[in-house]
Amino acid sequence: MTNILILGGTTEASALATAVAQRGMRAVLSYAGRTEHPRAQPVPWRIGGFGGVEGLVHHLRQERVTHLVDATHPFAATMSRHAAQAARIAGINHIMLTRPPWEAGPGDRWTHVPDIPAAVAALDGEPRRVMLALGRMHVDAFADQPQHDYLMRFVDAPDIAPSLPNHRLVVDRGPFTLAGDLALMRQHRVELVIAKNAGGTGARAKLDAARALGIAVLMIDRPPLPDAQTTHSVTDVIDWLDHSAQRGV
Ligand code: NAP
Repeated sequence: MTNILILGGTTEASALATAVAQRGMRAVLSYAGRTEHPRAQPVPWRIGGFGGVEGLVHHLRQERVTHLVDATHPFAATMSRHAAQAARIAGINHIMLTRPPWEAGPGDRWTHVPDIPAAVAALDGEPRRVMLALGRMHVDAFADQPQHDYLMRFVDAPDIAPSLPNHRLVVDRGPFTLAGDLALMRQHRVELVIAKNAGGTGARAKLDAARALGIAVLMIDRPPLPDAQTTHSVTDVIDWLDHSAQRGV
Protein backbone atom coordinates (compact mmCIF):
# COMPACT_ATOMS: atom_id res chain seq x y z
CA MET A 1 0.00 0.00 0.00
CA THR A 2 1.17 3.51 -0.83
CA ASN A 3 2.55 5.18 2.27
CA ILE A 4 3.77 8.73 1.72
CA LEU A 5 6.12 10.88 3.74
CA ILE A 6 5.87 14.56 2.79
CA LEU A 7 8.76 16.75 3.91
CA GLY A 8 7.03 20.03 4.55
CA GLY A 9 7.17 23.46 6.00
CA THR A 10 5.81 25.04 2.80
CA THR A 11 2.47 25.92 1.22
CA GLU A 12 3.16 23.31 -1.49
CA ALA A 13 3.49 20.59 1.17
CA SER A 14 0.20 21.67 2.75
CA ALA A 15 -1.52 21.70 -0.66
CA LEU A 16 -0.23 18.20 -1.36
CA ALA A 17 -1.36 17.01 2.08
CA THR A 18 -4.86 18.25 1.26
CA ALA A 19 -4.81 16.54 -2.14
CA VAL A 20 -3.66 13.17 -0.82
CA ALA A 21 -6.12 13.34 2.09
CA GLN A 22 -8.97 13.98 -0.37
CA ARG A 23 -7.93 10.85 -2.23
CA GLY A 24 -7.80 8.79 0.96
CA MET A 25 -4.08 8.12 0.57
CA ARG A 26 -1.96 7.36 3.59
CA ALA A 27 0.49 10.15 4.31
CA VAL A 28 2.41 11.85 7.09
CA LEU A 29 3.62 15.42 6.91
CA SER A 30 7.00 16.14 8.47
CA TYR A 31 8.03 19.50 9.93
CA ALA A 32 11.48 20.55 11.04
CA GLY A 33 9.94 22.37 14.00
CA ARG A 34 11.16 25.86 13.15
CA THR A 35 7.81 27.58 13.81
CA GLU A 36 5.93 27.20 17.05
CA HIS A 37 2.46 26.56 15.69
CA PRO A 38 2.26 24.66 12.42
CA ARG A 39 -1.01 25.19 10.59
CA ALA A 40 -3.69 22.49 11.10
CA GLN A 41 -3.30 19.75 8.49
CA PRO A 42 -5.64 17.13 7.02
CA VAL A 43 -3.05 14.33 7.48
CA PRO A 44 -1.10 13.23 10.56
CA TRP A 45 2.10 15.12 11.14
CA ARG A 46 5.40 14.70 12.98
CA ILE A 47 7.94 17.28 14.10
CA GLY A 48 11.74 17.30 14.30
CA GLY A 49 14.86 16.24 12.41
CA PHE A 50 15.49 12.57 11.62
CA GLY A 51 19.17 12.53 12.56
CA GLY A 52 20.84 12.92 9.18
CA VAL A 53 20.71 10.49 6.26
CA GLU A 54 21.11 7.46 8.52
CA GLY A 55 18.24 8.56 10.75
CA LEU A 56 15.99 9.22 7.78
CA VAL A 57 16.77 5.81 6.24
CA HIS A 58 15.89 4.23 9.58
CA HIS A 59 12.63 6.21 9.73
CA LEU A 60 11.66 5.31 6.15
CA ARG A 61 12.21 1.62 6.86
CA GLN A 62 10.58 1.61 10.28
CA GLU A 63 7.47 3.42 9.02
CA ARG A 64 7.43 1.42 5.77
CA VAL A 65 7.34 4.57 3.67
CA THR A 66 6.94 3.81 -0.04
CA HIS A 67 7.03 7.37 -1.46
CA LEU A 68 9.09 10.30 -0.22
CA VAL A 69 7.95 13.71 -1.45
CA ASP A 70 10.42 16.46 -0.71
CA ALA A 71 8.24 19.57 -0.61
CA THR A 72 10.65 21.56 1.54
CA HIS A 73 11.54 25.15 0.85
CA PRO A 74 14.03 25.57 -2.05
CA PHE A 75 16.57 26.88 0.46
CA ALA A 76 16.31 23.79 2.68
CA ALA A 77 19.23 22.29 0.76
CA THR A 78 20.52 20.00 3.51
CA MET A 79 17.16 18.30 3.97
CA SER A 80 16.78 17.90 0.21
CA ARG A 81 20.23 16.36 -0.12
CA HIS A 82 19.54 13.97 2.77
CA ALA A 83 16.15 13.04 1.32
CA ALA A 84 17.59 12.15 -2.09
CA GLN A 85 20.36 10.05 -0.53
CA ALA A 86 18.08 8.32 1.98
CA ALA A 87 15.48 7.43 -0.65
CA ARG A 88 18.23 5.90 -2.81
CA ILE A 89 19.60 3.85 0.10
CA ALA A 90 16.15 2.73 1.23
CA GLY A 91 15.18 1.96 -2.40
CA ILE A 92 11.94 3.96 -2.35
CA ASN A 93 10.30 6.42 -4.75
CA HIS A 94 11.38 10.03 -4.44
CA ILE A 95 10.28 13.28 -6.01
CA MET A 96 10.85 16.96 -5.30
CA LEU A 97 7.95 19.41 -5.33
CA THR A 98 9.26 22.94 -5.56
CA ARG A 99 8.16 26.35 -6.82
CA PRO A 100 9.68 27.99 -9.86
CA PRO A 101 12.10 30.78 -8.93
CA TRP A 102 11.10 34.43 -9.32
CA GLU A 103 12.49 36.28 -12.30
CA ALA A 104 13.17 39.99 -12.57
CA GLY A 105 10.87 41.93 -14.89
CA PRO A 106 10.78 45.48 -16.23
CA GLY A 107 11.21 48.01 -13.43
CA ASP A 108 12.93 45.60 -11.06
CA ARG A 109 16.31 46.68 -9.67
CA TRP A 110 17.76 43.32 -8.62
CA THR A 111 21.35 42.44 -7.89
CA HIS A 112 22.00 38.70 -7.57
CA VAL A 113 24.23 37.13 -4.94
CA PRO A 114 24.83 33.40 -4.52
CA ASP A 115 24.35 33.04 -0.76
CA ILE A 116 24.03 34.75 2.63
CA PRO A 117 27.77 35.50 3.11
CA ALA A 118 27.78 37.22 -0.29
CA ALA A 119 24.72 39.26 0.71
CA VAL A 120 26.48 40.33 3.92
CA ALA A 121 29.61 41.29 1.96
CA ALA A 122 27.53 43.31 -0.51
CA LEU A 123 26.34 45.54 2.35
CA ASP A 124 29.77 47.08 2.89
CA GLY A 125 29.51 50.86 2.88
CA GLU A 126 27.33 53.71 4.06
CA PRO A 127 24.42 53.05 6.47
CA ARG A 128 21.17 52.22 4.74
CA ARG A 129 17.63 51.27 5.71
CA VAL A 130 17.48 47.60 4.87
CA MET A 131 14.51 45.24 4.92
CA LEU A 132 15.85 41.78 5.76
CA ALA A 133 13.17 39.48 4.38
CA LEU A 134 15.02 36.32 5.31
CA GLY A 135 13.68 34.47 8.32
CA ARG A 136 15.30 34.61 11.68
CA MET A 137 17.90 31.89 11.25
CA HIS A 138 19.97 34.07 8.87
CA VAL A 139 19.67 37.38 10.62
CA ASP A 140 22.67 37.14 12.93
CA ALA A 141 25.05 36.92 9.96
CA PHE A 142 24.26 40.58 9.27
CA ALA A 143 25.82 41.62 12.60
CA ASP A 144 29.03 41.91 10.52
CA GLN A 145 27.44 45.01 8.93
CA PRO A 146 26.14 46.78 12.05
CA GLN A 147 25.99 50.25 10.45
CA HIS A 148 22.63 49.64 8.76
CA ASP A 149 19.14 50.08 10.09
CA TYR A 150 17.43 46.70 9.69
CA LEU A 151 13.72 46.01 9.38
CA MET A 152 12.79 42.36 9.98
CA ARG A 153 9.54 40.47 9.72
CA PHE A 154 9.22 37.15 11.56
CA VAL A 155 6.43 34.59 11.78
CA ASP A 156 6.78 34.28 15.58
CA ALA A 157 8.20 36.65 18.16
CA PRO A 158 11.76 35.40 18.82
CA ASP A 159 12.74 34.22 22.34
CA ILE A 160 16.03 36.06 22.02
CA ALA A 161 16.16 39.48 20.37
CA PRO A 162 18.18 39.62 17.11
CA SER A 163 21.79 40.64 17.71
CA LEU A 164 21.72 43.53 15.21
CA PRO A 165 22.26 46.86 16.99
CA ASN A 166 19.78 48.92 14.92
CA HIS A 167 16.72 46.91 14.13
CA ARG A 168 12.95 46.99 14.08
CA LEU A 169 10.92 43.83 14.26
CA VAL A 170 7.47 43.13 12.84
CA VAL A 171 5.76 39.86 13.80
CA ASP A 172 3.35 38.76 11.08
CA ARG A 173 2.71 35.43 9.39
CA GLY A 174 0.91 36.90 6.42
CA PRO A 175 -0.67 36.60 3.96
CA PHE A 176 1.24 39.63 2.70
CA THR A 177 -0.30 41.98 0.15
CA LEU A 178 1.08 44.59 -2.18
CA ALA A 179 -0.84 47.32 -0.33
CA GLY A 180 0.44 46.07 3.03
CA ASP A 181 4.06 45.82 1.89
CA LEU A 182 3.92 49.22 0.18
CA ALA A 183 2.71 50.73 3.46
CA LEU A 184 5.38 48.88 5.47
CA MET A 185 8.21 49.98 3.18
CA ARG A 186 7.01 53.56 3.11
CA GLN A 187 6.55 53.66 6.87
CA HIS A 188 10.09 52.41 7.48
CA ARG A 189 11.57 54.29 4.52
CA VAL A 190 13.20 51.10 3.22
CA GLU A 191 16.08 51.68 0.76
CA LEU A 192 17.10 48.09 0.06
CA VAL A 193 15.29 44.73 0.31
CA ILE A 194 17.28 41.55 0.86
CA ALA A 195 15.35 38.45 -0.15
CA LYS A 196 15.92 34.80 -0.93
CA ASN A 197 14.61 33.62 -4.28
CA ALA A 198 11.90 31.49 -2.72
CA GLY A 199 9.44 31.76 -5.61
CA GLY A 200 5.69 31.37 -5.19
CA THR A 201 3.01 33.91 -4.46
CA GLY A 202 3.06 34.05 -0.65
CA ALA A 203 6.20 36.16 -0.33
CA ARG A 204 6.04 37.91 -3.70
CA ALA A 205 4.34 41.12 -2.48
CA LYS A 206 7.57 42.63 -1.14
CA LEU A 207 9.16 42.39 -4.58
CA ASP A 208 6.17 44.01 -6.26
CA ALA A 209 6.23 46.75 -3.62
CA ALA A 210 9.98 47.27 -4.14
CA ARG A 211 9.41 47.56 -7.90
CA ALA A 212 6.58 50.06 -7.44
CA LEU A 213 8.69 52.19 -5.12
CA GLY A 214 11.90 51.87 -7.17
CA ILE A 215 13.68 50.15 -4.27
CA ALA A 216 16.76 48.01 -5.00
CA VAL A 217 16.64 44.29 -4.17
CA LEU A 218 19.58 42.09 -3.24
CA MET A 219 18.35 38.70 -4.44
CA ILE A 220 19.96 35.62 -2.93
CA ASP A 221 19.87 32.88 -5.53
CA ARG A 222 18.89 29.30 -4.70
CA PRO A 223 21.42 26.77 -3.49
CA PRO A 224 22.09 23.82 -5.79
CA LEU A 225 19.55 21.03 -5.29
CA PRO A 226 20.00 17.28 -5.82
CA ASP A 227 19.78 15.85 -9.29
CA ALA A 228 16.37 14.25 -8.81
CA GLN A 229 12.93 14.05 -10.39
CA THR A 230 11.35 17.46 -9.80
CA THR A 231 8.00 19.06 -10.44
CA HIS A 232 6.32 22.38 -9.68
CA SER A 233 2.81 20.94 -9.57
CA VAL A 234 0.80 19.09 -6.92
CA THR A 235 -1.19 17.41 -9.72
CA ASP A 236 2.03 15.98 -11.14
CA VAL A 237 2.87 14.49 -7.76
CA ILE A 238 -0.59 12.90 -7.54
CA ASP A 239 -0.11 11.44 -11.06
CA TRP A 240 3.32 10.17 -10.07
CA LEU A 241 1.84 8.54 -6.96
CA ASP A 242 -0.95 6.93 -8.99
CA HIS A 243 1.38 5.64 -11.69
CA SER A 244 3.95 4.19 -9.37
CA ALA A 245 1.17 2.56 -7.31
CA GLN A 246 -0.21 1.01 -10.54
CA ARG A 247 3.25 -0.28 -11.39
CA GLY A 248 3.40 -1.75 -7.90
CA VAL A 249 6.56 0.10 -6.90
P1 NAP B 1 17.81 22.50 6.11
O1 NAP B 1 18.92 23.40 6.49
O2 NAP B 1 17.84 21.90 4.77
O3 NAP B 1 17.68 21.31 7.15
C1 NAP B 1 18.41 21.23 8.35
C2 NAP B 1 17.92 20.05 9.12
O4 NAP B 1 16.61 20.26 9.61
C3 NAP B 1 17.80 18.79 8.29
O5 NAP B 1 19.06 18.16 8.13
C4 NAP B 1 16.82 18.00 9.11
O6 NAP B 1 17.43 17.48 10.29
C5 NAP B 1 15.87 19.07 9.59
N1 NAP B 1 14.73 19.25 8.69
C6 NAP B 1 14.57 20.15 7.68
N2 NAP B 1 13.36 20.05 7.12
C7 NAP B 1 12.72 19.06 7.77
C8 NAP B 1 11.43 18.48 7.67
N3 NAP B 1 10.52 18.94 6.78
N4 NAP B 1 11.11 17.46 8.51
C9 NAP B 1 12.01 17.01 9.43
N5 NAP B 1 13.24 17.52 9.58
C10 NAP B 1 13.59 18.53 8.78
O7 NAP B 1 16.42 23.20 6.33
P2 NAP B 1 16.09 24.70 6.76
O8 NAP B 1 16.51 25.60 5.69
O9 NAP B 1 16.59 24.85 8.17
O10 NAP B 1 14.49 24.62 6.77
C11 NAP B 1 13.82 23.93 7.80
C12 NAP B 1 12.35 23.78 7.45
O11 NAP B 1 11.76 25.05 7.26
C13 NAP B 1 12.11 23.00 6.17
O12 NAP B 1 11.07 22.08 6.46
C14 NAP B 1 11.70 24.01 5.15
O13 NAP B 1 10.75 23.51 4.24
C15 NAP B 1 11.10 25.10 6.02
N6 NAP B 1 11.33 26.44 5.48
C16 NAP B 1 12.60 26.83 5.19
C17 NAP B 1 12.82 28.08 4.68
C18 NAP B 1 14.20 28.53 4.30
O14 NAP B 1 14.31 29.66 3.81
N7 NAP B 1 15.23 27.73 4.47
C19 NAP B 1 11.73 28.95 4.46
C20 NAP B 1 10.44 28.51 4.77
C21 NAP B 1 10.26 27.26 5.28
P3 NAP B 1 18.05 16.01 10.37
O15 NAP B 1 19.34 16.05 9.61
O16 NAP B 1 18.20 15.77 11.83
O17 NAP B 1 17.05 15.07 9.73
